[in-house]
Amino acid sequence: MPNHHRLIIMGSGPAGSTAAIYAARAELNPVVLEGLQAGGQLTITTEVENYPGFANGISGPELVETMKLQAERFGAIYRPDEAVQVDLAQRPFYIQTHESEYTCEALIIATGASARWLGLASEKKFMGHGVSACATCDGFFFREKEIVVVGGGDTAMEEATFLTKFATKVTIVHRRGELRASRIMQEKAMSNPRIHFALHKIPEEIIGEEYPLRVTGVKLRDVRDNTTSVLSVDGVFMGIGHEPNSKLFQGQLDMEPTGYIITQSKSTATNVKGVFAAGDVQDHRYRQAITAAGSGCMAALEAEKFLEG
Ligand SMILES: Cc1cc2nc3c(=O)[nH]c(=O)nc-3n(C[C@H](O)[C@H](O)[C@H](O)COP(=O)(O)OP(=O)(O)OC[C@H]3O[C@@H](n4cnc5c(N)ncnc54)[C@H](O)[C@@H]3O)c2cc1C
Repeated sequence: MPNHHRLIIMGSGPAGSTAAIYAARAELNPVVLEGLQAGGQLTITTEVENYPGFANGISGPELVETMKLQAERFGAIYRPDEAVQVDLAQRPFYIQTHESEYTCEALIIATGASARWLGLASEKKFMGHGVSACATCDGFFFREKEIVVVGGGDTAMEEATFLTKFATKVTIVHRRGELRASRIMQEKAMSNPRIHFALHKIPEEIIGEEYPLRVTGVKLRDVRDNTTSVLSVDGVFMGIGHEPNSKLFQGQLDMEPTGYIITQSKSTATNVKGVFAAGDVQDHRYRQAITAAGSGCMAALEAEKFLEG
């Protein structure tokens, strides 16, 4: 028999854990399926300086671990397991995980989004030490520095433009000769004296120092003649987009063409009654820990109301 619970929360990032804190304090005994990245995206960053309540900043892993401890204090149960299949057409809802089977009366989806990375070993090595995928979050650390933004679409233009507030020089590296970004975004980037372009180039390796771990450059390969060159920079930002972790719900929940789950206005309710979505999986706009936590709180309050009804 599947394990039955009143409320299951999928995801243990800021959205999932905030939902867990509220739901546990409402005595709903939520079960949190942590997924493969327990703690979510903040576990791959070093310093978080913009989460309220921490005057001196806090490390990403410590912040999400503290949220988990806070939820557990009120009775939330965390399981190191990942949902692999769901059936939202049946009541109670059915969830199959690697380890087990669950049913629940209400479900909060907080499965987040994944930044797209290049897949280089050196990129992984310097993640949080000069390599980032979030300009809003980490731009501040690059005051008076030179950086690279990878990508040729609107995300890359937007990130590069934003980063010129801090960096003295931002080089957009793109593999093609033309950019994919909308004309208006391209024009904005091209007219910015701090933005430079390295077209027909792909980053082959991120170069840096060991002690302390920091980026000092990026090796670029020209796709036209395979020659390589090294650009000296202090940071590398990925601007190649994000992918919401929503595949599991395709065909069962209303989604935008990009895969973001659609929620009702000023609510976390999806098109299926009793299923709520919070955090980056339904937010392509703000993508911040605080907004994810805020919508996690909303989801728990809405789930509580739904369960009372
Ligand atoms: C490099 C980097 C630095 C950042 N720095 C900051 C910062 O300084 N400040 C800030 O406010 N924001 C920052 N962000 C953004 C912030 O991390 C996200 O906005 C936030 O983590 C989103 O929270 P979330 O709970 O919606 O999703 P996530 O944090 O993405 O968590 C998703 C969770 O869902 C789980 N999951 C996924 N699929 C399944 C499944 N099938 N079953 C069960 N669980 C599943 C995962 O394991 C994970 O636990 C940064 C992001 C990155 C990438």
